[in-house]
Amino acid sequence: MSTLLELRGVETGYHGVPVVHDLDLTVGEGEVVALLGANGAGKTTVLNTIAGLVPRTGGSLSVLGAPVSSRQRGAQRRTLDVVRRGVGYVPEDRALFYDLTAIENVRLAAARRDRAAVAAALDLFPALAPLTGRAAGLLSGGEQQMLAVARALAARPRLLMIDEMSLGLAPIIAERLLASIRKIADDTGTGILLVEQQVGAVLRVADRAYLLRRGRVVVEGRAADLRARPDLLASSYLGSG
Ligand code: ATP
Repeated sequence: MSTLLELRGVETGYHGVPVVHDLDLTVGEGEVVALLGANGAGKTTVLNTIAGLVPRTGGSLSVLGAPVSSRQRGAQRRTLDVVRRGVGYVPEDRALFYDLTAIENVRLAAARRDRAAVAAALDLFPALAPLTGRAAGLLSGGEQQMLAVARALAARPRLLMIDEMSLGLAPIIAERLLASIRKIADDTGTGILLVEQQVGAVLRVADRAYLLRRGRVVVEGRAADLRARPDLLASSYLGSG
């Protein structure tokens, strides 16, 4: 299994104030990795740093085996660089084009004439099939979330990052989406880094997990092992661990 994403000693933050400290994190081919932690722990900051939206102030970042320079200035350049390497990102606000139809959103993300990628991405979410002609803004929260993931997949990412996929979703829909994520990783070898508040549900599909507290990893390991230690997770979330 090759390593798609590798962070070593990464420090990042805002306006010179570090928010994430000394972060080591990896995602391998076909792996689903969960990034957990209480509100404000730094999870979104980590994803935004990998995506180049937030500049990193220390440590090293390597995407698909090649280092990403921290000297590159400007979020636009940094983000283009990682996207071109094959990184997909579904941000927390989904960032859909709400006036365009569902299928237009997915087509926009795919390379020109890559109809197979559009079809394969939509096939994963049969619930979207009758809705492809509807404006994205008129879809329900769950449908929009499926569309955001389908759109990211249409670009055939090697590494996909998803922030708070289950936010606002009924538990059964969230579980179905998580099962689809597992299948994507298994079928295509895409590495997936998931920020998720539904800890129990995500640990059932993930291979490994990292738990951040105040910007530091306090627990990491195999998801199966962490599932067996709810006490450890609870104390880390609540601050006594
Ligand atoms: P949540 O689960 O609530 O989304 P999170 O773990 O994703 O939280 P982050 O959004 O990464 O946490 O925030 C980590 C810390 O960085 C918080 O203290 C937050 O206030 C701060 N922060 C986030 N964005 C900015 C910003 N643009 N400018 C300054 N501080 C920020």
